[in-house]
Amino acid sequence: MSDSEWTKILGWPGYRVYRSEINEAAKTLRLWVRRKRGNLKLVCSGCGQRVREIVASYEREVHDLPCFEYRTTVVIELYRVRCPGCGIKAEKVEPLPSKAPFSKRFEEAVGQACEGAAARRVGQQFGLAASTVRAIDLRYLKRWAQARRKPALRQMGVDEIYLGKKQKFVTVVSNLETGEPLWFGRERKQETLDEFFRTQLSSFQRSAIRAACVDMWEPFRRSLEQWVPRCRIVYDKFHILQHASAAVDEVRRAEFFRKGGAARDLIRGKRWLLLSSWIHLDRQKKRQLNELFILNRRVMKAYLLKESLTRLWDYTYEGAMMRYLESWIDQLRWQRLKPMEKLAAMLVKHLDGILNYGHTKVPMGVVEAVNGNIKALLRRGRGYRNLNYLRLKAQRLAATRTQFLVLRKAA
Ligand SMILES: [Zn+2]
Repeated sequence: MSDSEWTKILGWPGYRVYRSEINEAAKTLRLWVRRKRGNLKLVCSGCGQRVREIVASYEREVHDLPCFEYRTTVVIELYRVRCPGCGIKAEKVEPLPSKAPFSKRFEEAVGQACEGAAARRVGQQFGLAASTVRAIDLRYLKRWAQARRKPALRQMGVDEIYLGKKQKFVTVVSNLETGEPLWFGRERKQETLDEFFRTQLSSFQRSAIRAACVDMWEPFRRSLEQWVPRCRIVYDKFHILQHASAAVDEVRRAEFFRKGGAARDLIRGKRWLLLSSWIHLDRQKKRQLNELFILNRRVMKAYLLKESLTRLWDYTYEGAMMRYLESWIDQLRWQRLKPMEKLAAMLVKHLDGILNYGHTKVPMGVVEAVNGNIKALLRRGRGYRNLNYLRLKAQRLAATRTQFLVLRKAA
């Protein structure tokens, strides 16, 4: 094949093939390229400015996409240039996005493959080590994040994720309207969230935030009051119900220790049944719960209270929410359910933020979904010691899913 035919097949804009080599036994293809005659624009890799003075030329080798069964290596002739601002630098070339020995489109193919498979699998497919695949994927995601417009933040979610014994808790700030995580911070202190406001947003961007959906966690509340005083704090429904489930479990455990014999056996192993919603249980599971309730009224009462609390968010007005909550607390009287009483005290203490839902409708469940996506990523692939990588990965996941939804809507 002639050099000009290879030039067409390779398809690097502004570059022409001047030599090719095929190794049939090793199934490799090497192409040597240099600038086309008309391609004179040189750019400094330090500052991105146009430069004119060439100091020296040199060669770099990169992997490009395979050509049929042949692994392809491109040897590219490059210039070292003298930049008025930076001194002597390498020129910046569009198909070589980094110092790593891969072309841009090769990295894009690897990055796209990483969206559907674990790094190890992608490594097998492309003949690369898993660590190399992750490094390529990270660069791919960074370039994607840099190139796109970031949606404005008007409703934010704050949650924490437990990453394990070593990394402990990470605070996750998300955009409730797009369902994507924006920022990860170590630990879950007031200072953690302070750092987000200080380093990630201008005062104008902060003033655009209308609502924040958070857990009843004092450090976050203090940070929000300091940095975005006009934003409404809305306590997250799912977190409140998590506290309710924990209270039911506490009642179950107390009863478990008190009872002996048959009743004790009946309660044992019913933990997750009690934590599930009635509507999510099949007939047999409902029967099991009913058997338990016949034996223990107290556990039943706690379960019913948890179930009825979920209906608080069916009300759209503050007054109606308030009345519902009052009657809910009334039902606790004479029940001697200490954990539920503690829960009620907590709800009363955070009343404003609970009732704020009556003013500002934030999409409940987004914080939970973001959390779930991150956990799914963590389960799928190890190697997220780099938090930035994990965040970009979760962002990309959220963004591509919404794109998918939008496409389906249009069809
Ligand atoms: Zn420069």
